[in-house]
Amino acid sequence: MQTSSLSQRSTKATELNAKASPDFAAKLAESKALLQRAAAEFSPITQASSLGAEDVVITHLINSLQLDVAVFVLETGALHTETLALLERSQAHSKAPIHVYRPQHESVIQFVRDKGQDAMYQSIALRKECCGIRKMEPLARALAGQRAWITGLRQEQSSARADVPLQDDSEVATKNLSKFNPLAKWTWGDVWHYIALNHVDYNPLHDQFFPSVGCAPCTRAISLGEEFRAGRWWWEDEAAKECGLHVKK
Ligand code: SF4
Repeated sequence: MQTSSLSQRSTKATELNAKASPDFAAKLAESKALLQRAAAEFSPITQASSLGAEDVVITHLINSLQLDVAVFVLETGALHTETLALLERSQAHSKAPIHVYRPQHESVIQFVRDKGQDAMYQSIALRKECCGIRKMEPLARALAGQRAWITGLRQEQSSARADVPLQDDSEVATKNLSKFNPLAKWTWGDVWHYIALNHVDYNPLHDQFFPSVGCAPCTRAISLGEEFRAGRWWWEDEAAKECGLHVKK
């Protein structure tokens, strides 16, 4: 269920997508300045990486600016082999440390035993329960003690993300946690322009028309003209399409 026939096709994502906005240089300068300020003023601070295109750009920026920022990856136990291979390569080559957080083994075993391997397709509640075990609980551990985190959210990604700010302090009062979104204003073309220009190692799933990288059972390739997030939880309504990582309570 996780792939469509489109995934059999392969085109270099850099060739297909790299197209800088007219104001790309200004956006890049703004992103760099934001990252430098965040690293200087918010310590400890960490980057959440799904190993998707936006996140490899941010890790590349962190490394090139030599910022004191660690990176974490939620290894849900359901990632594509391509993503796991990129994780290994990233750990070998990144100067910034890349920490891996995995779900509690017992919780995963019990969920699969009680609800089934494909429970996420049965209802939104079960899908969210799976995300809770495989993503939200490890995320809480990854963010424990942090003053801020950095994400690859972009305004263009979906209508739910259209208002994503560069700095989000809405959870400072409740969690003492700021969120920085240095690529908030970037287009998909900007992301791929940066990747092509800097020869950034990226997830080959993007060459198979996966714009968004997630767990294998819940991510598929998209067709021309489909919404950017159409490949995530495609059997659900648009409004339900967040795993909880970026949903405010
Ligand atoms: S994205 Fe799918 S497989 Fe991954 S944690 Fe959520 S429901 Fe489970």
